Amino acid sequence: MSSSKDKKEEKHVKLEDVAEETGEFIGKGIRKTWSVMKSFGKGVVDTIETKEGRKNVATLTCSHCGASIPTQSNFCAKCGKKIL
Ligand SMILES: [Zn+2]
Repeated sequence: MSSSKDKKEEKHVKLEDVAEETGEFIGKGIRKTWSVMKSFGKGVVDTIETKEGRKNVATLTCSHCGASIPTQSNFCAKCGKKIL
């Protein structure tokens, strides 16, 4: 049963190597994840900005007083007349 003992020892040594490698790998992974998270956060901000931008862009000008009002409005917020 010396072969199994050798195997066990080999496994033990390998585990230490694996632990070291895993630590390195995790370190790299965290760095990678961090950059992914960073870009994800940036994407969220970009999405919000795009949404806000679209909201701002989605306006029309009142034909009565010239005020800019959201397209969903039925009446002008400034002069109160019906939007055509
Ligand atoms: Zn108006």
